Amino acid sequence: MSQLFNLSGKTAIVTGCNTGLGQGMALGLASAGCNIVAVNRRSPEETQRRVEAMGVSLLPVEADLASTTPIDDILAQAEEHFGGADILVNNAGIIRRSDALDFTEKDWDDVMDVNLKNLFFLSQAFARSCIEGQRRGKIINIASMLSFQGGIRVPSYTASKSGVLGLTRLMANEWASHGINANAIAPGYMATNNTEALRNDPERSREILGRIPAGRWGEPEDLAGAAVFLASDASNYVHGHTLAVDGGWLAR
Ligand code: NAD
Repeated sequence: MSQLFNLSGKTAIVTGCNTGLGQGMALGLASAGCNIVAVNRRSPEETQRRVEAMGVSLLPVEADLASTTPIDDILAQAEEHFGGADILVNNAGIIRRSDALDFTEKDWDDVMDVNLKNLFFLSQAFARSCIEGQRRGKIINIASMLSFQGGIRVPSYTASKSGVLGLTRLMANEWASHGINANAIAPGYMATNNTEALRNDPERSREILGRIPAGRWGEPEDLAGAAVFLASDASNYVHGHTLAVDGGWLAR
């Protein structure tokens, strides 16, 4: 059984893995034997140290995923150093909070560009490279509870994450026949930079915690098992699914 989850010799591109959930998933994949192409705006020093301590390689690639410009270089570097990538984790994401009545076009565009537009075009480039290189591919998109729910004061985030759920299904429909699995993970309320404002608001924090059956905020390492499953042969017949890792939030 452990062979099904073994990622030795595989390479994963993980975006936004210098911190938070991306770091948790990169460490999980590395512990299953996977090399990491770490795509970040800044050097992912801590992630690199911890990945390399597990005896696998991490290649840092500096890129700002606010635009599509770096996408070709990311794939080229994966090709040059590791002979191509087998797994893509689209984790980089941002959030902007403001009442819907006051929400600005800039806060709309900034969030949609990183969370949805560049997730799609990086996936497209990855899928093309898998098909050209005749490799199986695994795409893991990071969705959200707001792929299922409306949220409050985060219009562009809700739109982008609802879009991630739909795009994951579209990618599965078009690319499953090429041996590419496209799935998503929908994290619940996790203790990272993304939720710092919520956790610092005593009332919202109490409301959220009171609704989580597991009785705690999630931690980055809580995503490692789902990421390894969706990256490995164990999920070869799983296509277009969005897996909630949410301490039971959606069950309420
Ligand atoms: P985080 O802010 O700690 O991490 C976000 C990562 O994305 C960072 O590495 C950041 O540098 C990177 N990033 C942002 N903009 C980028 C850009 N333009 N170019 C390159 N990298 C960029 O927050 P997190 O909670 O770890 O978020 C990771 C993902 O999980 C996001 O997609 C987020 O929407 C999603 N998510 C988080 C939660 C939560 O509760 N924390 C819940 C659901 C989904």
